[in-house]
Amino acid sequence: MLKRVLIANRGEIAVRIIRACRELDIETVAVYSTADAQSLPVQLATRAVCIGPPRAADSYLNQTAVLTAAVESGCDGVHPGYGFLSENADFADLCARCGLKFIGPSGDVIRRMGNKAAARALMQSAGVPVVPGSDGPVPDAETAAQVAEKIGYPVLLKASAGGGGRGMRRVYDPENLIPAFEEARAEAVACFGDGEMYLEKLILNPRHIEFQILADSQGNVVHLGERDCSIQRRNQKLMEESPSRALTDELRTRMGRDAVQAARACGYEGAGTVEFVLDSAGNYYFIEMNTRIQVEHPITEMVTGLDLVREQLRIAAGLELPVQQEQVNLTGHAIEVRVNAEDPAHDFRPAPGVTRFLHLPGGCGVRVDTALYNGCELSPWYDSLAAKVIVHAPTRLQAIRRMRRALEELVVEGYPTGADLAHMILYHPDYLKGEYDTGFLEQNLESLLRLSRVEEASE
Ligand code: ADP
Repeated sequence: MLKRVLIANRGEIAVRIIRACRELDIETVAVYSTADAQSLPVQLATRAVCIGPPRAADSYLNQTAVLTAAVESGCDGVHPGYGFLSENADFADLCARCGLKFIGPSGDVIRRMGNKAAARALMQSAGVPVVPGSDGPVPDAETAAQVAEKIGYPVLLKASAGGGGRGMRRVYDPENLIPAFEEARAEAVACFGDGEMYLEKLILNPRHIEFQILADSQGNVVHLGERDCSIQRRNQKLMEESPSRALTDELRTRMGRDAVQAARACGYEGAGTVEFVLDSAGNYYFIEMNTRIQVEHPITEMVTGLDLVREQLRIAAGLELPVQQEQVNLTGHAIEVRVNAEDPAHDFRPAPGVTRFLHLPGGCGVRVDTALYNGCELSPWYDSLAAKVIVHAPTRLQAIRRMRRALEELVVEGYPTGADLAHMILYHPDYLKGEYDTGFLEQNLESLLRLSRVEEASE
């Protein structure tokens, strides 16, 4: 087993990783920017090293600073969490060159799956269904227009290096294609420093279904069932559940098998997620693979009873998976709500600040992953995720009821959050029936917000 792991991240995921390490008797080194000097991971880790000023480019993304801290503090492994350097192939290579185990797949695998256009091609050759679209990247807007004519409108323009819904544009009419292409490419250059674009047919009203996989260094690969992440705003996930109401056992088996096939095709090692869109006729298509732990991993932990970060650490140490596919039991139903410090009434604008008062829910089947504590500042420098509330119950309806009461117990004072909106979604008839797709929030946001104003006014 690894002896000392550097956590190249911050916030709730850093806390999550420290917890898994402690249970395995692994020492932890937290790195932090000056904005995070008082943060929970800094206080919980065995040691903490300041690596720079608040700007992520000067601290959490500063590879030299992170690696220097790891080597100087005698670490033998680096856990990148999600975001930041987690899907940076060069960083994974550099870790290996410094004699540090990068907790995730090799740089080569990250490179293979990190370029989404290339990953599509690889999946196609492995027999995994992909959305009809361009053969690889398209060099310019004119070529994109030709491909769009061929596959038929509407289409979705995507950045090969994309993530977090950025560098993506839906196009419904030929006349909008060229301006949308230039806009998306400019956004991709600004966000990722890479303007390579490709395009896919836009699947109308799909569900976002992703499969968690685990792969060890001995070639064993299992999937741990799916997560339905269709409650999204601007292509970003807000609430997730497992299992999905949209999947039959037969469909789960087929999609799971393809997810395992996807992992095998790229020589995967570690925990990863294979993402699909599922159309209303039950056809599914690979969209991308995330080569890291995901924000929404806890719902899979709840239904499988496995600790995914622990498994990441065990795989990194060269150990075999604890289960074979037949031994994976999915039990009950789990839901996660992401509590972001943002204002849904004002276009979800980020609204960080000082946490003046905090009360976290608890009780049977409730878990909260957060780095918040009373009085701590939620920094404006980083993403606005304040807490994740996760529930587990024997049935879906019990899980919904449990989540409602958990959100009713939650108190976060100091800034607005999306918790009330999530609470209202849990009463929506379509959500209750499990009949929703990625367009749900966009279609219902106005009426949900109107309801919340009525509620507020009557208080
Ligand atoms: P990112 O890496 O930026 O998150 P993804 O490729 O994972 O981008 O897509 C993000 C979201 O966009 C998906 O969850 C889904 O809602 C939507 N999406 C992606 N591809 C398609 C498609 N071909 N048709 C319809 N919706 C799509």
